[in-house]
Amino acid sequence: MLTVGVAATTAGAVSIGVAEYVSVSAQRDTQRTAIDQESTELQETPHLEREEMSELLQDFGISVETADKAAREIETNDPLPAHLQLEYGLDSTQLNSPWVAAGTASGSFLIGAALPMLAAVFAPEGWAVLTLILVTLGTLMMTGALSAKLAGNPVARSAGRLLTGGAVGLAVTYGIGTLFNG
Ligand SMILES: [Zn+2]
Repeated sequence: MLTVGVAATTAGAVSIGVAEYVSVSAQRDTQRTAIDQESTELQETPHLEREEMSELLQDFGISVETADKAAREIETNDPLPAHLQLEYGLDSTQLNSPWVAAGTASGSFLIGAALPMLAAVFAPEGWAVLTLILVTLGTLMMTGALSAKLAGNPVARSAGRLLTGGAVGLAVTYGIGTLFNG
């Protein structure tokens, strides 16, 4: 039970880390391409970029005169962040690091997995599975509530979502476990 648990947890943490690394790397490549392209356009065709900015601002319901004036002011300062934000929805001050994302994902997975596993190991004879399920769901609900609170999102909804996800995850894990233990 413990050996399988440790192996599964490690494998899970590694694959989550790798998946997160790949996904954030891809995001970053897209962001870099956008930044490069936009910088080039701003250097080579500044007047087109100014017109584009004015049109983007008009899309928010700003009048032509005000938008033109704002676009000119943006152009004279540092136009790149504004273009990235409005054209790509990209916050150039907050580029994600693939390594940090991978570490965070693996780390939270390990904490989330280690706690229920320890509880199951130290649970009284015959209560391991029930303890595992309860502690896992409890940990998930707490994690969901905590991260929702930190992010300022509705706590109940986030906790409920993680609880549902956890229940599905446990069902799948149980299914796979049955499959291998025959
Ligand atoms: Zn632009």
